[in-house]
Amino acid sequence: MTALRGVGEVLAEKLARLGVFTVQDLLFLLPLRYEDRTRIVPIGSLQAGARAVIEAEVELTEAVFRGRRQLLCRVTDRSGYLTLRFFHFTATQQAGLARGVHLRCYGEVRRGSLGLEIVHPEYRVLKGQATEGLPEALTPIYPSTEGVQQSRLRRLVELAFESLGEDGPRELLPRAALDALQLPSLRTALNYMHYPPTDASLAQLAAGRHPAQRRLAFEELLAHQLSLRQLRDEIRRDPAPKLAGDGTMIKRVLSALPFKLTAAQLRAHEQIAADLRLEKPMLRLVQGDVGCGKTVVAALAAAQAIEAGYQVAVMAPTELLAEQHLRNFHGWFSSVRVKPLLLTGKLQGRKRAAALDAVAGAQARLVIGTHALFQEGVRFKRLALVVVDEQHRFGVHQRMQLRQKGALEGRYPHQLIMTATPIPRTLAMTAYADLDIAVIDELPPGRTPVQTVAMPDKRRDEVVLRIHEACLQQRQAYWVCPAIEDTEDLPYKAAEELSAQLTAALPDLTVGLIHGRLPAAQKETMMQRFQAGKVDLLVATTVIEVGVDVPNASLMVIENAERMGLAQLHQLRGRVGRGKHASSCVLLYHPPLSQMARERLQVLRETNDGFEVARRDLELRGPGELLGTRQTGLAQLRVADLLRDADLLPRVQQGAELMVQAHAENIRPLIDRWVTHGGRYGKIG
Ligand code: ADP
Ligand code: MG
Repeated sequence: MTALRGVGEVLAEKLARLGVFTVQDLLFLLPLRYEDRTRIVPIGSLQAGARAVIEAEVELTEAVFRGRRQLLCRVTDRSGYLTLRFFHFTATQQAGLARGVHLRCYGEVRRGSLGLEIVHPEYRVLKGQATEGLPEALTPIYPSTEGVQQSRLRRLVELAFESLGEDGPRELLPRAALDALQLPSLRTALNYMHYPPTDASLAQLAAGRHPAQRRLAFEELLAHQLSLRQLRDEIRRDPAPKLAGDGTMIKRVLSALPFKLTAAQLRAHEQIAADLRLEKPMLRLVQGDVGCGKTVVAALAAAQAIEAGYQVAVMAPTELLAEQHLRNFHGWFSSVRVKPLLLTGKLQGRKRAAALDAVAGAQARLVIGTHALFQEGVRFKRLALVVVDEQHRFGVHQRMQLRQKGALEGRYPHQLIMTATPIPRTLAMTAYADLDIAVIDELPPGRTPVQTVAMPDKRRDEVVLRIHEACLQQRQAYWVCPAIEDTEDLPYKAAEELSAQLTAALPDLTVGLIHGRLPAAQKETMMQRFQAGKVDLLVATTVIEVGVDVPNASLMVIENAERMGLAQLHQLRGRVGRGKHASSCVLLYHPPLSQMARERLQVLRETNDGFEVARRDLELRGPGELLGTRQTGLAQLRVADLLRDADLLPRVQQGAELMVQAHAENIRPLIDRWVTHGGRYGKIG
């Protein structure tokens, strides 16, 4: 930046805060909005609320005291009078606004005590009769940062255009890709964005639908797509252990299962099995709605690795879930005499040391745990497969870290990532372009859809009756109270109170309590008791949000549902409807409901399909929140908006293909322009 005339270290630093590091970056700092300063508006035709340029002569300027000291300057252009009002002013300024001085002002006109006025207008004294020309284009208003004025930014952008020459910055996109979408060249688009003509549609610009914006959004999405693909290619160039046993262990695990795989599970399993037989690292995402049976698919992948003589690490987002996986895997692998080992942060002392030894010596073939699996001090001897469950808590960077930690002798483990966040396919292909995707789009047979109702929390008594009824029929129930941010109480407090109330209200039932503060052993015991049917009603915080599987539970009550995200509610609801009994979910809310909250609860009442929930969530909230910012490489989109520009995504895929085939030399500069920012982007791994 300092190469630009008039830019020193201090200014460069301020600009860096806007993401501007190079002269080229300045051109990609796009205006937030525009103002029309191309015409001088007669005072007589001004209307309150408008922003306008006026030219007028000063009649009278006086400092007055009206509650506070201020400067009032009365100006006229013969069509009418207007007051300029300043609350901050200097003596020099006051002197400069003497009677007879000609001014050009810009500002928002409002109705004041003295008629129309502008508070703190931008203004310039016009020297003599030689009026300066008005701008020919709309005036851009840039995102501002402290200490850099708009006029300064505008001047800098002008200088940047000059210094980059007639056709700079370089066009990196293939003409064919742009033509197909009827999008303008880069220079044309940038020119338009910084200097839109007076007849530009401000509404279209504000909506982000102008071809100039779409051109830039397209370029940005393409850059991210290529960056993720490159990452993926790099990863796949490395060798990985080839997991090609004779299949007996897989067969035995399969035949020990109490059910038959669904067609969708089988398909995912086969895709994974084929990946694992190759000598390059698998990076596969298994996407499937809650309850579709992802865990068993992961277990089969684990069997393939163990059979080939390697170790497997299964990473769950919570201890509770790790414990559940332990129980499941224990059952599934008992026929092949593989004993899973649990490794979480809670494991300490001698037990921990023994576990670490077993991992380091490869006696432990199947290791299940939380992120503690990849902390300092954990060394695998023959790790070949990492399974990451419920990956919405793990992002691109974590994936890379895992890979590094799991590397042994230059070989990298395969990665299998399982998620219940069902995002639309085109979005997935963009957000997870570094992964292959397998979709499980079918639930095991015999499930009945969950009936969902919403009711105000004053009808709590009815809900208690319902629970009583269900439990008398040997069903079980959950009652979830989520963390409420703006109360003093910690979430487990609310859960404790609620469980006390419910214990009192339901004396003939066994009420259990589980929350994050309980020691791991206690949580595990409680889950086991619930699973074994010894607890009728489980009061819980959202620790049970992901993955917990108790098929006999048929009623889910969620407190303060209006405060939770759709995806989270859908996850929670997915805890029921897993067995043969008809299940229901009661969303308790605290009135009054906002319009948005009402619509969100409505979505859950209308559909049980996670993909549909995700689609509606996307409409209501936008993709950033749906995906979580950490998990994709798309966290910092500058121009594009995944929802607004969703229609571009298929073209982005094609464009990326075309670039790889025919314009490979432009890929690096493109990624640099939008993603890595000349290396300033957080280093991966
Ligand atoms: P999720 O995909 O949400 O992780 P789980 O793997 O926890 O789902 O499976 C949900 C439940 O469905 C478990 O009780 C599991 O044993 C059961 N299950 C999985 N696959 C099948 C199947 N093919 N037929 C019947 N039940 C199945
Ligand atoms: Mg699961």
